[in-house]
Amino acid sequence: MSEYSAPTQFIDLSAQQKLIRPQIDAAIKKVLDHGQYIMGPEVKEFEDQLVEFTGAKHALTCANGTDALTIALMAWRIGPGDAVFVPSFTYVATAESPAQLGATPFFVDVLEDTFNIDPVSLKQAIVDCRKLGLNPSAVIAVDLFGQPADVDRITEIAHDENIKVLIDGAQSFGATSKNRRVGSMGDATTTSFFPAKPLGCYGDGGAVFTNNPEDARIIDSLRLHGKGEQKYDNVRIGMNSRLDTIQAAILLEKLKLFPEELCKREKIARQYNSGLNISLGLPRVDQNIQSAWAQYTLLSSRRDRLQETLKSENIPSVVYYPKSLTQQDGYKKFPKVSSGTKISNLLPNKVLSLPMHPNLDPDDQQRIIEKVNLFELKN
Ligand SMILES: *Cc1c(COP(=O)(O)O)cnc(C)c1O
Repeated sequence: MSEYSAPTQFIDLSAQQKLIRPQIDAAIKKVLDHGQYIMGPEVKEFEDQLVEFTGAKHALTCANGTDALTIALMAWRIGPGDAVFVPSFTYVATAESPAQLGATPFFVDVLEDTFNIDPVSLKQAIVDCRKLGLNPSAVIAVDLFGQPADVDRITEIAHDENIKVLIDGAQSFGATSKNRRVGSMGDATTTSFFPAKPLGCYGDGGAVFTNNPEDARIIDSLRLHGKGEQKYDNVRIGMNSRLDTIQAAILLEKLKLFPEELCKREKIARQYNSGLNISLGLPRVDQNIQSAWAQYTLLSSRRDRLQETLKSENIPSVVYYPKSLTQQDGYKKFPKVSSGTKISNLLPNKVLSLPMHPNLDPDDQQRIIEKVNLFELKN
């Protein structure tokens, strides 16, 4: 890398766009020509591709990943009096969606090595929630930073208690667990096509996946104002939550590149893992799991200084997330597990996400690794 080359990007969407710009232009033009901007043919085509790619029986697109969570919970009639277990260390949308429905987000702790929900903490939370007189109704297992949560263990605990399992796969689209693709597991899965997610569009977008045909029918109705069989027939209270046809057209083109991008992300993650000084807490991926590597996140006890040092070298890095949800003013009033959310409260002081995208230049990555290791050596 010469000193005149472009600065390293945290997530470089323009490098990806350069590879497929003519195809994107043609796809958008096609939509402008046919003019079916809402629920046009590309939406259905993209949903068919999602079914094929994920192995889920049904894929229903919607306006964004937050709506996707809300729609899935609505399909299960979750509302006031219901507790929905959510990890305390996640993006706010995971807790926001049950709260919007009048349900109670109930905070559970996470595991320090995978950042995902701790099954032991979940078990305790179920007991605690009954003592508070709440009805334990669903758990939202987040696949944080792209790594699928331990869905089998969580499902075993949840189904034992008649609790539904919703997987928040906003960051893990494309990942696999025991050769099952994200989307095909749990009682339902949601994802987001926000630009910076592993599969992103050029605006907002999301999807709900389910293997249950009855749930799929209700989800389809909910995203379209609670529609019935006929147009202007409204059989339930729904939402206006559709994926724009233009975004579906863009996603169809991006999906073609996506399998190769997943391989590139894996290669970059391995490069970080083998190159970085092992005194840092490096991300651990469970056996039989393939992460989508939405983020490459390490732990450092000198995180703030490490971030400053990288910044002085023009290397961007981001703290996902600077607070756990039980530390957020908007969410402090909600209950949490009696054994505490210690790990969730600790992680915000230690996590640092390094540049991660499929087109990260190998020389750039080598420079990042060197600068991080140099800092560790000196401190
Ligand atoms: C991004 C994200 C969401 C929300 O997706 P949007 O499309 O931005 O609404 C939900 N959960 C997690 C874990 C996310 O990272």
